[in-house]
Amino acid sequence: MGKAGKNKGCQRCGNCCTTLTIAMNNVAADADAQELGRWAALHRCDPLRFPSGCLAVRVPLVCRWLEFDGTHYRCHDYEHRPQICRDYQCDRAKGDKAAG
Ligand code: SF4
Ligand code: SF4
Repeated sequence: MGKAGKNKGCQRCGNCCTTLTIAMNNVAADADAQELGRWAALHRCDPLRFPSGCLAVRVPLVCRWLEFDGTHYRCHDYEHRPQICRDYQCDRAKGDKAAG
């Protein structure tokens, strides 16, 4: 969250640190919309299809390092966050107004 230089407009909503997106390849659901619907309903996850055709699911997973100060969320170990966190580019953080 709030990756300096990438997401300068970060609102510290914490959304990016509360879900895990898993890409899936070569699964039956990839070619069968009904199967995908059953899979998503039974597992209570959000199926995603990216413009590239890649299929993925988004599942709830709150990072243990996520903190809430009563107003905003922050990473408790921001300096040591993994590269996947540093590379994340957020659609919600467009704009150049820094949130801190
Ligand atoms: S605005 Fe985007 S980068 Fe900032 S915390 Fe929310 S989801 Fe994460
Ligand atoms: S390590 Fe920090 S930036 Fe990465 S998911 Fe956890 S709280 Fe978010």
